[in-house]
Amino acid sequence: MAVIAVVGGGITGLALAHRLRSRGKDAVVLEAGAHLGGVIQTRQRDGFSTETGPNSFLDREPATRELAASLGIEERIRMADPSAKSRSLYTRGQLRPVPASPPAFLKSDLLPLGTRLRVLAELFTGRAPPGQDESLGDFGRRHVGARATSVLLDAMQTGTYAGDVEALSAEAAFPTLKQLEREHRSLLLGAVRTQGRQRAPAPAGTKLKGAMCTFEGGLGTLVEALARALGPAARTGAAVEGLARSQNGWRLSVRERGQQAELEASQVVLTSPAHVSAELLAPLDPSLAGHLKGIPYAPIAVVHLGFAPGKTPPPDGFGFLVPGQEQRQLLGVIHVSTVFPFRAEGGRVLYTCLMGGARRPDLVGLNEEALAALAQQELREMAGVTASPDFTEAVRWPRGIPQYTVGHLERLSAIDSALARLPGLHLAGNAYKGVGLNDCIRNAAALAETLASR
Ligand SMILES: Cc1cc2nc3c(=O)[nH]c(=O)nc-3n(C[C@H](O)[C@H](O)[C@H](O)COP(=O)(O)OP(=O)(O)OC[C@H]3O[C@@H](n4cnc5c(N)ncnc54)[C@H](O)[C@@H]3O)c2cc1C
Repeated sequence: MAVIAVVGGGITGLALAHRLRSRGKDAVVLEAGAHLGGVIQTRQRDGFSTETGPNSFLDREPATRELAASLGIEERIRMADPSAKSRSLYTRGQLRPVPASPPAFLKSDLLPLGTRLRVLAELFTGRAPPGQDESLGDFGRRHVGARATSVLLDAMQTGTYAGDVEALSAEAAFPTLKQLEREHRSLLLGAVRTQGRQRAPAPAGTKLKGAMCTFEGGLGTLVEALARALGPAARTGAAVEGLARSQNGWRLSVRERGQQAELEASQVVLTSPAHVSAELLAPLDPSLAGHLKGIPYAPIAVVHLGFAPGKTPPPDGFGFLVPGQEQRQLLGVIHVSTVFPFRAEGGRVLYTCLMGGARRPDLVGLNEEALAALAQQELREMAGVTASPDFTEAVRWPRGIPQYTVGHLERLSAIDSALARLPGLHLAGNAYKGVGLNDCIRNAAALAETLASR
């Protein structure tokens, strides 16, 4: 049977290969690193369970739950503790809760009164001229004004992209916001009109909880289950170093555990980061490689600070985000032990601090001790955590999160046109049409179905 080679064993590559194999296709995953999962890895140490990359997924669409069900681990999905529902923003030098409803927003001190009134005037915003790819900053200023954009929209994008409001494309990075605008003109109006729809119970037969979720044992449980299901079809320590067309499809040069080998495949899916795929494709199509190289990434550091039981009071809520105008070193903080108490045994307290991003890329160059010390100092000044942590861990991702900047959609259509000239070659992964776990899994499943039906 013709082999489908999947380059990269992150969640995209694993989910794709699993779906292909369950549709009877001979898919093989080639992963350069020593472990599967890409940026996802759960570590257990000193009573703490830490994540190197993502912390959770939003159980609002079926992709991740369906994947879990197909692996027999749906029962191991764990919802965030209901007490962790509230979120805060660090604005004007202090933590302030994010109000849950428009009337509460009007009464809250999240933004100064004049800014809140400007947000209300959003009801009169006109639609953007069609076909215009505007930055999230421009989009925000049109709708809610400059001050609310630099607080609310900056915090929102920081939570997903760790990027820059002036660089991100509103349409590519937040398509649902642009859809609200297209359908309802005003975002507030759209939010009110669709509230009923969003609150409606999940369709009969689905178990979607609409909550942030992980798995018992962390997100690593999903990777382990995929690795088990794929068995020897998922190969670690197998770096793809070259790609050429062959008589029956494609020939891959693979360096596997020090040995150079070749693999013949009828189809190839590159799920490697865009800059790696660019290197592989440069000899075949320099212009395609150029488009891929043009997708920037924001570096990010994940810093865990753990406290022994009783050392510091457990924090309330999910955590907080920090808009750039506050000029702090933290992008955001997750109150892990409040959200998922089972990730910190026996009453321990665990914070995960996110640092760097497009705002402070230099911070990702700091060593682990320096990052932990900086996170600790920031947490003390911003959230009043005065105790010294008993456990620290820092993970640095120099190319952490792809940035869907203005022009991204145009770049994607140029990439699609170039791929049409290379039959049997496909691109997937977080660099293109969604960075969240749900996006990666949903897009992988859709591509698998397309390939399986050929
Ligand atoms: C710090 C951080 C926090 C995040 N938090 C969340 C969150 O809470 N919720 C959420 O939904 N999303 C989150 N995300 C986003 C989400 O985790 C990622 O977008 C997603 O996991 C990416 O999966 P992927 O398979 O597309 O890419 P990757 O995980 O990057 O996998 C690509 C793989 O390709 C391999 N590779 C590279 N070169 C080669 C080669 N030449 N040959 C073979 N293999 C190669 C790499 O080693 C890697 O394993 C977060 C991301 C980061 C970095």
